[in-house]
Amino acid sequence: MSAPLTIIGSGMAGFGLLRQLRALDAERPVTLITADGGDDYAKPLLSTGFAKHLPPGRLAARSALDVADRLGAVVRTHTRVDAIDPRARTLSIGAETLAWSELVLATGAAPALSFDTAEALHDRIFTINDLDDYRGFHAALTALGRPARVAIVGVGLVGCEFANDLVAGGHRVSLVAPERAPLPRLLPEPLGRALGEAFAGAGMRLRLGRTLAAFETLGSEVGLALDDGSRLEADLVLVATGLRPRAALAEAAGLEVGVMGIQTDRLLATSAPGIHALGDVACVDGINAMFVQPLQAGAKALARTLAGTPTPVAYGAWPVLVKTPLLPVVALPPTRAPARWRIEGEGGDLAAFAEDEDGRLIGFALTGTCVRRKVELARAAPPLLG
Ligand code: FAD
Repeated sequence: MSAPLTIIGSGMAGFGLLRQLRALDAERPVTLITADGGDDYAKPLLSTGFAKHLPPGRLAARSALDVADRLGAVVRTHTRVDAIDPRARTLSIGAETLAWSELVLATGAAPALSFDTAEALHDRIFTINDLDDYRGFHAALTALGRPARVAIVGVGLVGCEFANDLVAGGHRVSLVAPERAPLPRLLPEPLGRALGEAFAGAGMRLRLGRTLAAFETLGSEVGLALDDGSRLEADLVLVATGLRPRAALAEAAGLEVGVMGIQTDRLLATSAPGIHALGDVACVDGINAMFVQPLQAGAKALARTLAGTPTPVAYGAWPVLVKTPLLPVVALPPTRAPARWRIEGEGGDLAAFAEDEDGRLIGFALTGTCVRRKVELARAAPPLLG
């Protein structure tokens, strides 16, 4: 029997590709291997569950077994691939060696942690990057039996969305980060400050411009010592200090990898014949967007390529909709430094236009009622990957 097409990863990239492939080719043997439980779920929903008091089971659309059945694939869960051999076209899982005909790396991105958490605090300090993480944090919140004091470290998209969601769920949230305003990679500072004001207005404590020096054990609480000598106390801590592409397998196998992930061309082909990369782990022609729309476009194009029609991927001007109902935010960050940001509006209703030297729009950011302009502005902005 010929070796199967093998996909590593059951996130939106891995399962998305499997669905697209099956729409084109019902017969080809496909194996999907995943280190986690293989639940089919939409990761963006993780930061909307606490407001609605959703138990983890309500976030999963279907189980791995169900996906395997419906899509006619072998799905191996709780199975970590330890190494890949591009020349022999094999991969290793412990002592087991499996052959593949073509391989797709959809291993996602992992939380970037730049400090130690003491052993004693492991049941109180969390990251949430998959459904299993959500399960762990949800259980810790539920075990308290009362609204929790949650300290969130990091004010990027993940930190801000969880902050908004937890406050909406009745919890008390503190936000700590070295930046002076939330969403520093998506918003120019005045718009970030508007979001910070909306957060403060909802009762959040913002400790911005402050770096975490250390975690401390304080009985059943966690202490956060900050660089100005001040302290915060919390029941639980959520660390949201960014994500790094999980490219170790590719790197160890000698594939071209950079800080933004596994390098691919627009066919999602890596530097090794027969190996493609997709989703948060892939840096496609210099861009790693780490959002759903680009990975869906990639899954569609790669399915066609694997079915015999080489299809380069293209990304449109797809703005990011940040799930902060306290102040709605939409952003299309420019892919290069703008000559200027032009900002209009007042209060929480702001529109910022990133312009190049010739005054052309190369990105934008919108808050409050200005988010209505997203379609009009996206039409005028250049594509992410044209
Ligand atoms: P992942 O979902 O990380 O999947 C990686 C898979 O690889 C996992 O199954 C893992 O077990 C497996 N794996 C890794 N290493 C191995 C190994 N060695 N062996 C076997 N398996 C392995 N994007 C948006 O566009 N809009 C949003 O609103 C939005 N909200 C978000 C909210 C949150 C809280 C988070 C964390 C992200 C959000 N994103 C959003 C980003 C989006 O969810 C991600 O871009 C997308 O889910 C990434 O999917 P992926 O399949 O590439 O990676």
